[in-house]
Amino acid sequence: MSDRVAIIGAGHVGAATAYALMLRGLFPEIVLIDAITELAAAEAEDILDANALARPARVFAGSYADAAIARVVILTAGAATQGTASRLSVATQSAAIVASCVTQLIDAGFKGILIVAANPVDLMAWTAFRRSSLPSARVIGTGTLLDTCRLRQAIASQLNVAPASVDGVVLGEHGDSEVALLSSIRIGGLTLEKFAPGIVDGGKLAREVRDAGYKIVTGKGYTSFGIATAAVRICEAIVRDERVVLPVSTLLTGQFGVSDLFLSLPCLVGAGGIEQVLIPEMSEAETAALLNSASIIQKAIVGLAIPNMRHE
Ligand code: NAD
Repeated sequence: MSDRVAIIGAGHVGAATAYALMLRGLFPEIVLIDAITELAAAEAEDILDANALARPARVFAGSYADAAIARVVILTAGAATQGTASRLSVATQSAAIVASCVTQLIDAGFKGILIVAANPVDLMAWTAFRRSSLPSARVIGTGTLLDTCRLRQAIASQLNVAPASVDGVVLGEHGDSEVALLSSIRIGGLTLEKFAPGIVDGGKLAREVRDAGYKIVTGKGYTSFGIATAAVRICEAIVRDERVVLPVSTLLTGQFGVSDLFLSLPCLVGAGGIEQVLIPEMSEAETAALLNSASIIQKAIVGLAIPNMRHE
């Protein structure tokens, strides 16, 4: 396996991810694949213009044969939502694209780690898993890593502290039923209430984080920088074998009595992909909200009717 990353889908998210990966210098080779080959080629050329002033990488538009030897493939090809339309509204459309891309990737011989960013991401990671022969550890949905960044940033802005000093996590669906674990938030070991009594309204904070994507899509038509950085962060954890805990979408195998669906829990991410799935301490209300999130994903899965291509 090479030190190559491939990105399927060279639209807003794919191009921003390729650019962020190049700036981070994680991979010497970055392959872009898109149904519109001219778009992939143009984005690769645009990024190469930065090569002389950044960490040089070989960036090029390629094929599934080029992606087959990649260590990591990031799947961003999917249907994009508009305005305040729920991510779940494009599930069928995205699933057809994801199923087609994953089938071609696996047929080409890919054996690396697949990171799925296409929305609705929990359903698309599940679709990718069902259509592939990869172990569940090697299929990772970007999940609520982005929402967690939004939570930490929102608290940081309100309290004038660095986001790196805000500990807290969003779990469940990357979507309307996501669960901000308000009970988990710590700043220097202090709860929100102890750090800044009466300042942060937890319910309002959770709603703002949940709706942050809609606000950006309404303003500029899409989101790209946050999700690109989240995808790069997962790549970094893999390449450097960090075993860092990230909230990403993973296959549930009985946690909370739920299995055969993807949703975000804190996961230990290293060279092998997801090496351990953790169950954090939660309040009763948070556990109930997480189960509700799982049941919403489960219902949406039933509507997808993706055939299982796994032989196990
Ligand atoms: P976009 O329309 O700009 O890009 C999608 C690209 O996929 C297009 O260039 C299109 O040509 C390509 N494509 C479509 N079908 C293809 C196929 N079969 N094979 C190869 N390429 C194909 O959309 P975008 O704004 O880049 O968003 C991409 C996806 O990422 C959407 O599903 C969007 O909802 C999702 N997204 C996810 C997150 C997250 O947090 N997970 C955040 C933002 C966007």
